[in-house]
Amino acid sequence: EPCHPFRRSSSEAMERRGKIRIGIPRVLNIWSTAPFWRTYFEALGMDQHNIVFSDYTSEDLWQVGGKYGSIDPCYPSKVAQAHVHNLLFKHHEHKPLDYIMFPCITHIPSHIQHVKDYASCPIAAGAPNVIKAAFTKEVNFFEAKGVVYLDPAITFAEPNMLKKQLYEAFKDHLQFTEDESDFAATEGFRAMELFDKEMQEKGRMILEQVEQENRLAILMIGRPYHSDPGLNHGVLEEFQVLGYPILSIRSIPKDELWLHRYFTDDLKSGRVEYALEVSDVWPENFSSNSVQKVWAAKFAARHPQVALLDLSSFKCGHDAPTYGLIDAIIQSAGTPFSALHDIDANKPSGSIKIRVKTYAHSLGLHEERLRDLARKKVELEHRLEQRRVELLSHRKNEQFGII
Ligand code: SF4
Repeated sequence: EPCHPFRRSSSEAMERRGKIRIGIPRVLNIWSTAPFWRTYFEALGMDQHNIVFSDYTSEDLWQVGGKYGSIDPCYPSKVAQAHVHNLLFKHHEHKPLDYIMFPCITHIPSHIQHVKDYASCPIAAGAPNVIKAAFTKEVNFFEAKGVVYLDPAITFAEPNMLKKQLYEAFKDHLQFTEDESDFAATEGFRAMELFDKEMQEKGRMILEQVEQENRLAILMIGRPYHSDPGLNHGVLEEFQVLGYPILSIRSIPKDELWLHRYFTDDLKSGRVEYALEVSDVWPENFSSNSVQKVWAAKFAARHPQVALLDLSSFKCGHDAPTYGLIDAIIQSAGTPFSALHDIDANKPSGSIKIRVKTYAHSLGLHEERLRDLARKKVELEHRLEQRRVELLSHRKNEQFGII
């Protein structure tokens, strides 16, 4: 906290900031941190309409802007170039942007305890650099368009470090004071917390409803960017149309006490210290999103009304180590599970429809089994109650010497 009076930038600098327009590609780790960026820039006095996100991924967006990189990694990082293209050639043409900001986010914390690190996937973290190279290789498209490309390294795991990084990255461009930047960063963190809270509240309501109605919700355990309809090829929508509510990892409540009801045995046996922990199944865990995936599988395995849908992208080297772990977790619990691995640019619409139908069919059967079990439980309770009443009246009769 500053021990001097809050230092403000000049009114000219503030006025200038109010007019600056900044584009942000809607890809990769931006999916985990967007509320932070929006709030950070707004708290610095930028107009909310001047903070422009690229469009959602679509076949069109990819066709138009996907030919710049020579690299051939996973689709989510490849598609990022098409989003930068979308900002530069569509949004900028429509109304000029001053900057495109695509940070190299190296660390993203989660709620999971006892983790070795909060590392982001290095491909996702490095993508902004790779894309800069792609757009400046022969022609410097940014210079040609009069847009400045900013790709600072940012860690979300250490708030003080993050503040320093933000100040260094933007001070010359946005002409703010360190106090103003620090304040805006604090507001950004608050916005992320609020967003998390809202998502978790929605998730809690869905869970309570399916528990009450004894039907299934689908927990999608892809990466945050798999919520982009262009990256999940509309599969989430298909399930929603069929009446299955969709949960994301972010929307599962992370309140340790609330979660205890599902992890009672694990906690009692001492296998884990926290409900929010994966060290029992994966002690050597470093990668933030992978850890969250594995934890979410553990949660589903302990929740009778939650089915899993694992999404992962073609050529993803980071999901591979989780496959075996997730398999082992759900096998022992009998959790309904379906996976769409190797998702790529082309929408395999036919096969996705078949996969959705097949999974929906087995989910329907599972729901019948759940209802059957519930019915049997009620019947059993009813019979036990009857037996108790019979025994009681028997005893009473004995007392009064009727028999
Ligand atoms: S997690 Fe996998 S799909 Fe996502 S950016 Fe990293 S390597 Fe690519």
